[in-house]
Amino acid sequence: MINGEKHSILYNNYTEALERLETDGKKLIGYFTNRVPVEIIHALGLHPIRIVSMGITKTGASEQYIQAFGCSWLRQIMDLALNGGFRTLDGIIFSAGTCDSLQNVSDLWRKVFPKQWIYNLTFPVLTSTKAARSYLQTEFENLINSLHSKFVDSQHELKLVESIKLYNQRRVYFQKLASLVSQREILYLDMAKLLYLGDILPIEEVLSLLEEYLQSLRDIDSSKIPKSPRLLVTGGMGVDNFDIWKIQGFNHIVADDLSFGTRNFNFVVPTGKFLEGLTQAYMERIPDPTALDMHKRMEYLKKLIKDNQIDGVILLNTKWCDPEAFEFVHLQNKLREIEIPSLIIETTPDLSNREQIHTRLAAFLELLS
Ligand code: SF4
Repeated sequence: MINGEKHSILYNNYTEALERLETDGKKLIGYFTNRVPVEIIHALGLHPIRIVSMGITKTGASEQYIQAFGCSWLRQIMDLALNGGFRTLDGIIFSAGTCDSLQNVSDLWRKVFPKQWIYNLTFPVLTSTKAARSYLQTEFENLINSLHSKFVDSQHELKLVESIKLYNQRRVYFQKLASLVSQREILYLDMAKLLYLGDILPIEEVLSLLEEYLQSLRDIDSSKIPKSPRLLVTGGMGVDNFDIWKIQGFNHIVADDLSFGTRNFNFVVPTGKFLEGLTQAYMERIPDPTALDMHKRMEYLKKLIKDNQIDGVILLNTKWCDPEAFEFVHLQNKLREIEIPSLIIETTPDLSNREQIHTRLAAFLELLS
């Protein structure tokens, strides 16, 4: 429905997608985590591309590099990298101040791919203080300077307001899609596919794709989409393979709190305050489990549960992701207090336990019915 011939390749093969991208000769800058301000990259005339693990076969090549505590998501990404998956990227921005696994991979990457430009953007772990905001704004300024001196013509102006407007528009379209998922007009899977494309394609192309898709919905038949029970899925940043949503039972998802899901677009950046506004918006976002703000995440979850009349919550744990594993016990206790049933499901980027997920999900849905 949304994947015309032009984009079908992107659904199966990330590497090939990168090689086929038409970006008018713009330099390609990969980035880890949705905390990296894509507006800055775009405003400098560069093309931001989120690093994802989808579309590769596990090769095991990463085993000799990744430490024993490294998560399954980063192992798969390193496999892809060692097989030339990111060779077309001109640079990569890592998010420091996140988790041990990611911080170690950034050091490794520098060693294994010495010719690639690597940048560590550090985020404050506490997000609510004035000092943290001022720190992050300086980090954003340093990022601009660094990208500018490495990739940008000295005459190029930073067109931040224009870029903020474009990305805000993308967020508004995705917010509309999220409300359609909640109203059971479209499947969560369809929104997830568009989000995947939205993090890879040039923003101008993403906006026309979303406009086209929203217009095509007038003729859609949603009668086969199940109306209940209503599921919410939450987790960290290792769930980027949208094939997971094809597992039967996940067609009951009406809302999410995922890094590759609504956490990517449930905020808007003020346009009049330039870098200060951008910093403020990124600071006030709902944090990933790597940030120290469990209270904010729980309050947000409660709001999602209420607004979307949720019957049950799935906590998706990426295998060997410590930040999620630590958080889930606490979240489950809090959910018990408000009498919302929940289920922890462990997953890997290659979905090798697909059958097990299906069985556990089916049992959980039966319990909720
Ligand atoms: S937060 Fe979890 S999934 Fe993300 S890089 Fe760290 S360990 Fe891996």
